[in-house]
Amino acid sequence: MVFVYHGHVPELAKQVEETQWRINQRYLEIFGNEGYEKLEQAVNRILTPESYVESIDDLKKITGEDFPETTPSKFLFACLMDLKIDKDGRIGNKNARLGCGFYITENSFNHSGSSHISDQIVASYIHEFDHFVPMVLQKTPLYLAHAYLTNNIGTAYKLEDLTETIVKIGEDDALSPDEKQLKVSLASTAYALFDVWEDSTRILDKLVLEGIGIDAPLPFRGKKREYLYGTFKPLDMIVAIPNGGDPFFGMSDLEAVRRVVNWETYFRPAMNISYVNNLYETLKNLRPEYIPFGQVLKESQDPNHVKKERRKERKRMQKVAEEKLREIRKKKGGGK
Ligand SMILES: [Zn+2]
Repeated sequence: MVFVYHGHVPELAKQVEETQWRINQRYLEIFGNEGYEKLEQAVNRILTPESYVESIDDLKKITGEDFPETTPSKFLFACLMDLKIDKDGRIGNKNARLGCGFYITENSFNHSGSSHISDQIVASYIHEFDHFVPMVLQKTPLYLAHAYLTNNIGTAYKLEDLTETIVKIGEDDALSPDEKQLKVSLASTAYALFDVWEDSTRILDKLVLEGIGIDAPLPFRGKKREYLYGTFKPLDMIVAIPNGGDPFFGMSDLEAVRRVVNWETYFRPAMNISYVNNLYETLKNLRPEYIPFGQVLKESQDPNHVKKERRKERKRMQKVAEEKLREIRKKKGGGK
Protein backbone atom coordinates (compact mmCIF):
# COMPACT_ATOMS: atom_id res chain seq x y z
CA MET A 1 0.00 0.00 0.00
CA VAL A 2 1.48 3.33 -1.08
CA PHE A 3 -1.34 5.83 -0.89
CA VAL A 4 -2.14 5.93 2.83
CA TYR A 5 -3.51 8.53 5.20
CA HIS A 6 -2.99 8.37 8.96
CA GLY A 7 -4.57 11.72 9.83
CA HIS A 8 -7.89 12.56 11.48
CA VAL A 9 -9.90 14.57 8.94
CA PRO A 10 -12.99 12.30 8.59
CA GLU A 11 -13.95 13.32 5.06
CA LEU A 12 -10.38 12.84 3.82
CA ALA A 13 -10.06 9.45 5.53
CA LYS A 14 -13.28 8.36 3.78
CA GLN A 15 -12.16 9.61 0.35
CA VAL A 16 -8.72 8.02 0.68
CA GLU A 17 -10.35 4.70 1.47
CA GLU A 18 -12.60 5.00 -1.58
CA THR A 19 -9.81 5.89 -4.02
CA GLN A 20 -6.85 4.05 -2.48
CA TRP A 21 -6.91 1.00 -4.73
CA ARG A 22 -7.07 2.95 -7.99
CA ILE A 23 -4.40 5.41 -6.89
CA ASN A 24 -2.01 2.64 -5.87
CA GLN A 25 -2.59 1.13 -9.31
CA ARG A 26 -1.62 4.47 -10.89
CA TYR A 27 1.61 4.71 -8.86
CA LEU A 28 2.46 1.18 -9.93
CA GLU A 29 1.87 2.09 -13.60
CA ILE A 30 3.90 5.30 -13.31
CA PHE A 31 6.92 4.06 -11.34
CA GLY A 32 6.97 0.34 -12.20
CA ASN A 33 7.46 -2.55 -9.77
CA GLU A 34 10.81 -1.44 -8.44
CA GLY A 35 9.74 2.17 -7.83
CA TYR A 36 6.47 1.05 -6.25
CA GLU A 37 8.26 -1.26 -3.84
CA LYS A 38 10.73 1.43 -2.85
CA LEU A 39 7.85 3.81 -2.32
CA GLU A 40 5.92 1.29 -0.22
CA GLN A 41 8.92 0.74 2.05
CA ALA A 42 9.37 4.48 2.50
CA VAL A 43 5.69 5.01 3.29
CA ASN A 44 5.69 2.21 5.89
CA ARG A 45 8.81 3.54 7.55
CA ILE A 46 8.13 7.28 7.48
CA LEU A 47 4.40 8.01 7.64
CA THR A 48 2.67 7.80 11.03
CA PRO A 49 -0.24 9.71 12.62
CA GLU A 50 2.30 12.31 13.76
CA SER A 51 3.15 13.05 10.11
CA TYR A 52 -0.10 15.03 9.91
CA VAL A 53 -0.33 18.55 11.27
CA GLU A 54 -4.01 19.29 11.70
CA SER A 55 -4.41 22.81 13.02
CA ILE A 56 -2.99 26.17 12.10
CA ASP A 57 -1.79 26.63 15.70
CA ASP A 58 0.24 23.42 15.52
CA LEU A 59 1.66 24.49 12.17
CA LYS A 60 2.75 27.81 13.69
CA LYS A 61 4.24 26.10 16.71
CA ILE A 62 6.20 23.60 14.65
CA THR A 63 7.57 25.99 12.07
CA GLY A 64 7.94 29.07 14.28
CA GLU A 65 6.33 31.06 11.47
CA ASP A 66 3.17 33.11 11.60
CA PHE A 67 0.80 31.42 9.16
CA PRO A 68 -2.65 32.98 8.51
CA GLU A 69 -5.91 30.99 8.75
CA THR A 70 -6.05 31.07 4.94
CA THR A 71 -2.88 28.97 4.57
CA PRO A 72 -3.33 26.31 1.87
CA SER A 73 -2.44 22.63 2.40
CA LYS A 74 1.28 22.08 2.67
CA PHE A 75 3.98 19.48 2.30
CA LEU A 76 6.37 19.91 5.23
CA PHE A 77 10.06 19.20 4.93
CA ALA A 78 12.63 19.27 7.70
CA CYS A 79 16.37 18.77 7.63
CA LEU A 80 17.62 17.83 11.08
CA MET A 81 21.06 19.30 10.80
CA ASP A 82 23.01 22.26 9.57
CA LEU A 83 24.46 21.68 6.16
CA LYS A 84 28.15 22.47 6.19
CA ILE A 85 28.48 24.35 2.93
CA ASP A 86 31.78 26.06 2.12
CA LYS A 87 32.20 29.39 0.35
CA ASP A 88 32.28 27.64 -3.04
CA GLY A 89 28.97 25.83 -2.48
CA ARG A 90 30.37 22.40 -1.60
CA ILE A 91 28.43 20.40 0.98
CA GLY A 92 30.77 18.94 3.60
CA ASN A 93 28.24 16.56 5.19
CA LYS A 94 28.07 12.91 4.21
CA ASN A 95 24.68 12.10 5.73
CA ALA A 96 21.43 13.98 6.12
CA ARG A 97 18.57 13.19 8.46
CA LEU A 98 15.32 14.34 6.92
CA GLY A 99 11.66 14.31 7.79
CA CYS A 100 8.46 14.99 5.86
CA GLY A 101 4.92 15.72 6.93
CA PHE A 102 1.66 17.22 5.73
CA TYR A 103 -0.50 20.11 6.80
CA ILE A 104 -4.02 19.31 5.61
CA THR A 105 -7.42 20.24 7.02
CA GLU A 106 -10.86 21.07 5.57
CA ASN A 107 -9.88 24.72 5.84
CA SER A 108 -6.47 24.34 4.15
CA PHE A 109 -8.19 22.51 1.28
CA ASN A 110 -10.60 25.41 0.75
CA HIS A 111 -7.61 27.73 0.33
CA SER A 112 -5.54 25.42 -1.86
CA GLY A 113 -5.19 25.38 -5.65
CA SER A 114 -6.76 21.92 -5.74
CA SER A 115 -10.12 23.34 -4.66
CA HIS A 116 -10.29 25.01 -8.10
CA ILE A 117 -10.14 21.70 -9.94
CA SER A 118 -12.14 19.49 -7.59
CA ASP A 119 -14.55 19.66 -4.66
CA GLN A 120 -12.92 16.56 -3.15
CA ILE A 121 -10.36 17.11 -0.42
CA VAL A 122 -8.48 14.02 -1.58
CA ALA A 123 -7.27 16.06 -4.59
CA SER A 124 -5.46 18.41 -2.21
CA TYR A 125 -3.88 15.49 -0.34
CA ILE A 126 -2.79 13.90 -3.61
CA HIS A 127 -0.98 17.12 -4.53
CA GLU A 128 0.95 17.20 -1.25
CA PHE A 129 1.53 13.45 -1.45
CA ASP A 130 2.93 13.94 -4.97
CA HIS A 131 5.58 16.23 -3.49
CA PHE A 132 6.55 13.41 -1.14
CA VAL A 133 6.59 10.59 -3.74
CA PRO A 134 9.38 11.70 -6.14
CA MET A 135 11.40 12.98 -3.21
CA VAL A 136 11.70 9.62 -1.48
CA LEU A 137 12.37 7.97 -4.85
CA GLN A 138 15.27 10.33 -5.56
CA LYS A 139 18.72 9.18 -4.52
CA THR A 140 19.11 12.51 -2.76
CA PRO A 141 16.29 15.05 -2.59
CA LEU A 142 16.79 17.96 -4.97
CA TYR A 143 14.45 19.90 -2.73
CA LEU A 144 17.22 20.08 -0.15
CA ALA A 145 19.07 22.52 -2.44
CA HIS A 146 15.96 24.68 -2.62
CA ALA A 147 15.39 24.53 1.14
CA TYR A 148 19.00 25.51 1.82
CA LEU A 149 18.99 28.38 -0.66
CA THR A 150 15.71 29.88 0.52
CA ASN A 151 16.68 29.53 4.19
CA ASN A 152 19.88 31.41 3.57
CA ILE A 153 18.70 34.08 1.20
CA GLY A 154 15.04 34.55 1.97
CA THR A 155 12.01 32.71 0.70
CA ALA A 156 10.97 33.50 -2.84
CA TYR A 157 7.99 31.55 -4.05
CA LYS A 158 6.41 34.37 -6.01
CA LEU A 159 7.97 36.66 -8.58
CA GLU A 160 7.17 39.70 -6.41
CA ASP A 161 9.07 38.12 -3.50
CA LEU A 162 12.07 37.46 -5.71
CA THR A 163 12.10 41.03 -7.01
CA GLU A 164 11.90 42.29 -3.44
CA THR A 165 14.76 39.99 -2.37
CA ILE A 166 16.93 41.18 -5.27
CA VAL A 167 16.25 44.85 -4.46
CA LYS A 168 17.19 44.20 -0.81
CA ILE A 169 20.45 42.52 -1.82
CA GLY A 170 21.26 45.52 -4.02
CA GLU A 171 20.69 47.91 -1.14
CA ASP A 172 22.71 45.93 1.41
CA ASP A 173 25.88 47.96 1.93
CA ALA A 174 27.46 45.24 4.06
CA LEU A 175 27.86 43.05 0.95
CA SER A 176 30.75 43.32 -1.51
CA PRO A 177 29.92 43.43 -5.25
CA ASP A 178 30.96 39.76 -5.56
CA GLU A 179 28.75 38.74 -2.65
CA LYS A 180 25.85 40.67 -4.15
CA GLN A 181 26.31 38.98 -7.49
CA LEU A 182 26.38 35.54 -5.86
CA LYS A 183 23.33 36.22 -3.69
CA VAL A 184 21.28 37.45 -6.64
CA SER A 185 22.25 34.35 -8.64
CA LEU A 186 21.32 32.07 -5.74
CA ALA A 187 17.97 33.78 -5.17
CA SER A 188 17.10 33.33 -8.86
CA THR A 189 18.24 29.69 -8.74
CA ALA A 190 16.03 29.01 -5.70
CA TYR A 191 13.07 30.58 -7.46
CA ALA A 192 13.67 28.54 -10.63
CA LEU A 193 13.99 25.33 -8.57
CA PHE A 194 10.69 25.95 -6.84
CA ASP A 195 9.04 26.56 -10.19
CA VAL A 196 10.25 23.20 -11.55
CA TRP A 197 9.27 21.48 -8.28
CA GLU A 198 5.67 22.77 -8.47
CA ASP A 199 5.26 22.12 -12.21
CA SER A 200 6.60 18.57 -12.03
CA THR A 201 4.32 17.84 -9.08
CA ARG A 202 1.33 19.08 -11.05
CA ILE A 203 2.27 16.76 -13.92
CA LEU A 204 2.34 13.82 -11.49
CA ASP A 205 -0.98 15.03 -10.02
CA LYS A 206 -2.56 14.93 -13.46
CA LEU A 207 -1.37 11.35 -14.03
CA VAL A 208 -2.74 10.24 -10.65
CA LEU A 209 -5.97 12.26 -10.67
CA GLU A 210 -7.09 11.01 -14.08
CA GLY A 211 -7.06 7.54 -12.48
CA ILE A 212 -9.95 8.60 -10.24
CA GLY A 213 -11.78 10.59 -12.88
CA ILE A 214 -10.61 14.09 -11.90
CA ASP A 215 -9.48 16.21 -14.80
CA ALA A 216 -6.47 18.39 -13.95
CA PRO A 217 -5.66 20.70 -16.86
CA LEU A 218 -2.07 21.97 -17.11
CA PRO A 219 -2.17 25.23 -19.08
CA PHE A 220 1.65 25.61 -19.05
CA ARG A 221 2.26 22.27 -20.81
CA GLY A 222 3.58 22.41 -24.37
CA LYS A 223 4.36 26.13 -24.21
CA LYS A 224 7.87 27.34 -24.89
CA ARG A 225 9.76 28.24 -21.71
CA GLU A 226 9.91 31.99 -21.18
CA TYR A 227 12.49 33.93 -19.26
CA LEU A 228 12.40 37.39 -17.83
CA TYR A 229 15.70 39.10 -18.30
CA GLY A 230 16.21 41.73 -15.65
CA THR A 231 19.20 43.98 -15.24
CA PHE A 232 20.46 44.06 -11.70
CA LYS A 233 21.40 47.73 -11.59
CA PRO A 234 24.05 47.89 -8.82
CA LEU A 235 26.26 45.50 -10.79
CA ASP A 236 24.93 45.84 -14.31
CA MET A 237 24.32 42.13 -14.12
CA ILE A 238 21.65 40.36 -16.18
CA VAL A 239 19.47 37.84 -14.37
CA ALA A 240 17.40 35.20 -16.18
CA ILE A 241 14.22 34.30 -14.30
CA PRO A 242 11.77 31.69 -15.62
CA ASN A 243 8.42 33.34 -16.26
CA GLY A 244 5.88 30.81 -17.44
CA GLY A 245 6.07 28.18 -20.13
CA ASP A 246 6.90 24.51 -19.74
CA PRO A 247 10.12 23.35 -18.03
CA PHE A 248 9.41 19.91 -19.53
CA PHE A 249 8.73 21.13 -23.06
CA GLY A 250 8.71 18.32 -25.62
CA MET A 251 8.60 15.54 -23.01
CA SER A 252 5.72 13.22 -22.21
CA ASP A 253 4.21 13.39 -18.71
CA LEU A 254 5.78 10.07 -17.77
CA GLU A 255 9.19 11.13 -19.04
CA ALA A 256 8.99 14.42 -17.09
CA VAL A 257 8.25 12.53 -13.85
CA ARG A 258 10.98 9.98 -14.56
CA ARG A 259 13.55 12.73 -15.10
CA VAL A 260 12.65 14.44 -11.84
CA VAL A 261 13.16 11.17 -9.95
CA ASN A 262 16.56 10.75 -11.65
CA TRP A 263 17.48 14.42 -11.46
CA GLU A 264 21.19 13.76 -10.94
CA THR A 265 21.38 12.48 -14.52
CA TYR A 266 19.10 14.96 -16.24
CA PHE A 267 18.98 18.18 -14.30
CA ARG A 268 20.89 21.18 -15.66
CA PRO A 269 20.68 24.53 -13.87
CA ALA A 270 19.58 27.42 -16.11
CA MET A 271 22.56 29.60 -15.22
CA ASN A 272 26.13 28.37 -15.13
CA ILE A 273 27.27 29.47 -11.67
CA SER A 274 30.14 27.53 -10.08
CA TYR A 275 28.65 27.80 -6.56
CA VAL A 276 25.37 26.24 -7.74
CA ASN A 277 27.17 23.58 -9.80
CA ASN A 278 29.26 22.60 -6.75
CA LEU A 279 26.15 22.53 -4.58
CA TYR A 280 24.39 20.09 -6.95
CA GLU A 281 27.48 17.94 -7.46
CA THR A 282 28.06 17.46 -3.73
CA LEU A 283 24.33 17.07 -3.08
CA LYS A 284 24.42 13.99 -5.33
CA ASN A 285 26.80 12.30 -2.87
CA LEU A 286 24.79 13.02 0.25
CA ARG A 287 23.11 9.99 1.81
CA PRO A 288 19.64 10.88 3.05
CA GLU A 289 17.95 9.09 5.92
CA TYR A 290 14.25 9.77 6.32
CA ILE A 291 12.82 9.55 9.80
CA PRO A 292 9.17 9.87 10.92
CA PHE A 293 8.00 13.43 11.39
CA GLY A 294 7.12 12.77 15.05
CA GLN A 295 10.75 11.92 15.69
CA VAL A 296 11.83 15.10 13.89
CA LEU A 297 9.66 17.13 16.24
CA LYS A 298 11.02 15.35 19.31
CA GLU A 299 14.61 15.80 18.24
CA SER A 300 14.20 19.43 17.29
CA GLN A 301 12.69 20.19 20.69
CA ASP A 302 15.36 18.30 22.58
CA PRO A 303 18.88 18.85 21.25
CA ASN A 304 20.16 15.94 23.35
CA HIS A 305 17.65 13.55 21.83
CA VAL A 306 20.04 12.31 19.13
CA LYS A 307 22.77 11.64 21.68
CA LYS A 308 20.30 9.78 23.90
CA GLU A 309 19.05 7.70 20.95
CA ARG A 310 22.63 6.88 19.93
CA ARG A 311 23.49 5.84 23.51
CA LYS A 312 20.38 3.63 23.59
CA GLU A 313 21.33 2.11 20.24
CA ARG A 314 24.90 1.44 21.44
CA LYS A 315 23.57 -0.27 24.59
CA ARG A 316 21.21 -2.36 22.49
CA MET A 317 24.02 -3.44 20.15
CA GLN A 318 26.20 -4.28 23.15
CA LYS A 319 23.44 -6.51 24.53
CA VAL A 320 23.05 -8.25 21.17
CA ALA A 321 26.81 -8.84 21.00
CA GLU A 322 26.88 -10.21 24.56
CA GLU A 323 24.01 -12.52 23.79
CA LYS A 324 25.75 -13.80 20.65
CA LEU A 325 28.93 -14.40 22.64
CA ARG A 326 27.01 -16.34 25.27
CA GLU A 327 25.40 -18.45 22.53
CA ILE A 328 28.79 -19.24 21.02
CA ARG A 329 30.21 -20.17 24.43
CA LYS A 330 27.20 -22.39 25.09
CA LYS A 331 27.65 -24.18 21.78
CA LYS A 332 31.32 -24.69 22.43
CA GLY A 333 30.53 -25.88 25.92
CA GLY A 334 27.95 -28.34 24.53
CA GLY A 335 30.57 -29.83 22.18
CA LYS A 336 32.88 -30.79 24.99
ZN1 LIG B 1 2.70 22.23 -4.19
